[in-house]
Amino acid sequence: MSSSQPQNRLRVAVIGGGMAGLVLTLFLQKHSPDVQVDIYESAQALSEVGAGIAMWPRVWEIVVQLGFEEELNEIASGSAGEKPAFTYYKGDQPEMQVAFPTKYLARTFHRSQLQTLFAKHIQNVDQVIHFGKRLSDYVAPASGTGEITLNFRDGTSATCDVVLGSDGIRSAVRHTMYEDMAKAASDEKAAAELRQVSVPIWSGNIVYRGLIPVESLAEDMKAEVVTWIRVFLGKNQHIICYPIAQGKFINLANFVFTPEGEGTQYDGPWVSNVSAEAVVEKFGRWDPLIQTLMKGMSDPLAWAVHRLKELPTFSSGRVALLGDAAHAMTPFQASGLGQAIEDGFVLASILAQPNVTASNVAEALSIYDKIRRPFAQNIQRLSDANGQCHHLRRGGWEDVTAEESSRGGFAQERFDAMSGLLDAQVKWTQESSVMDDSDEALRMVKALAA
Ligand SMILES: Cc1cc2nc3c(=O)[nH]c(=O)nc-3n(C[C@H](O)[C@H](O)[C@H](O)COP(=O)(O)OP(=O)(O)OC[C@H]3O[C@@H](n4cnc5c(N)ncnc54)[C@H](O)[C@@H]3O)c2cc1C
Repeated sequence: MSSSQPQNRLRVAVIGGGMAGLVLTLFLQKHSPDVQVDIYESAQALSEVGAGIAMWPRVWEIVVQLGFEEELNEIASGSAGEKPAFTYYKGDQPEMQVAFPTKYLARTFHRSQLQTLFAKHIQNVDQVIHFGKRLSDYVAPASGTGEITLNFRDGTSATCDVVLGSDGIRSAVRHTMYEDMAKAASDEKAAAELRQVSVPIWSGNIVYRGLIPVESLAEDMKAEVVTWIRVFLGKNQHIICYPIAQGKFINLANFVFTPEGEGTQYDGPWVSNVSAEAVVEKFGRWDPLIQTLMKGMSDPLAWAVHRLKELPTFSSGRVALLGDAAHAMTPFQASGLGQAIEDGFVLASILAQPNVTASNVAEALSIYDKIRRPFAQNIQRLSDANGQCHHLRRGGWEDVTAEESSRGGFAQERFDAMSGLLDAQVKWTQESSVMDDSDEALRMVKALAA
C-alpha cells in the first residue's frame, strides 16, 4: 500500500471501484502525488455490465488529459469526429421513418474495455484497490478532526482523512451521510426529509439490454446495421442502437416506459434475465428489421432503471459523493458516467491544491458541492426531458396514442418541434466545457486559509 510514501498531505478513501472511482483515482494520482489514495471495492474483481456506453466531446476533453488518448481511440467506435452522432428514427411502425438527423458527435465504447483500460493505468493498482471490502458505514469524529473510520461488512476497518463515495446508486456512503445529517437535523420533519430524499426511485422504465455479435448476422443485415448510430422513437418505448468494440458488436438498449410507475418503489429485482423472444414480443408493432436485430441479442438482461432525487448536498464534513452515488440519472442524455468523470476531474483538481489539508478539506469539498451539484442536477432534469421526447410525450406528440403512433405515416413537420427540443437539450455536450467550472472551483479553493 502507499503507506510507505513519506508525508502524505491527505489520505483519501475512495469507496467503490466502478468507473467513477477508477477515473477519480487516475486524476488524483496524476495531479496529487502527495495524496494517498485507496479504493475499497465490494466485489472480488472489477466487472462491468456487457453493454455499450457513449462519451460526449465535453467529457472527452478531460479524459484525454489522462494521457492515453491513443489507447482510448483504439477501443472507440461511433462518430469519433467526422460523422453525425445519432440519427433519430421513428421505429414503432411497420416501416421505420427518418425523423431527423443531429449534428452531434459521440464516441461509443464497450464498457468492460473502457473499465479495463482505466484500471490498467492506475499506478500500483494491486496495492491501491482493496477487493472484497463492502463498506457498511463510516464514523467521522464529531469534532471534525481526527481519523475517519471505515467499517466493512467482513468485520474489518480502515482509517482515512477524507471519504469519497463512488459506490453507485445504492451508496452506503450516501446512506451514512444522510443518516448522520438526519440525526443532527433541527426537527423530525427535516430529519424525515433527509432520509427520504436519499432513497432511489424507479423511473418507470425497464430497459432490455443486450449485445449482438455482428458476425452472427446475415451478410446483408450486417452491412446495414454496423453503420447504425440511431435512436428509434416510439410511444412509451424507444431503442438506442450503436456499434461498439470496433464494430464487433451492436449495442441495443430497448426501453419500455410505464408512466404510473415513475417515482415509485420498484417491486422486484432491479436486474433479471430475459429471453430475446420475450423482448421482441414487447416491440410487436415495430419495424421487422429492428425485431430481427433484437432476436440476435445474446443473454439480454432486463434492468429496472432507477434514479436519485436531487440531493440537497453532495458533501458533508470530510465526506463527498460522486457519480451515481450523488446524481444517478435516467440514461437519456447518455451522461451518468460523463458526469461522474466531470466530478472526478473537479474533485481531484481541488484536492491537488497544496493549501488543502485535513483541517480545511471540509470547506474544499463544499466548494466541490457548490460547483458540481447545480450542473449535474440540471443534467438529471435534462435527461428526464430527453426521455419524454424519446417516448413521444412532448413536442406536440402528447395526444398521439400508441395505436395512432404505430400506424406511422407522419409528416416531417411533426418531427420539427421535437428536433428543436432535443437539440436545445443536448447542445451542452458539444458546446460547453467543464474547464470553466473547474477554474471557478480552483479560484475559490485558493482563497481558503490553510
Ligand atoms: C441503460 C443505461 C445506459 C447508459 N448509458 C450511458 C452512456 O451512454 N453514457 C454515460 O455517460 N452514462 C450512461 N449510463 C450511466 C452510467 O452507466 C452510470 O452513470 C455509471 O456507470 C455510474 O458509475 P459509478 O462508478 O458511479 O457507479 P457504479 O458503476 O454503480 O459503480 C459502483 C461501484 O461501487 C461498488 N460498491 C457498491 N456498494 C459498495 C460498498 N458498500 N462498498 C464498496 N464498494 C461498493 C460496486 O461494486 C461498483 O463497483 C447508462 C446507464 C444505463 C442504465
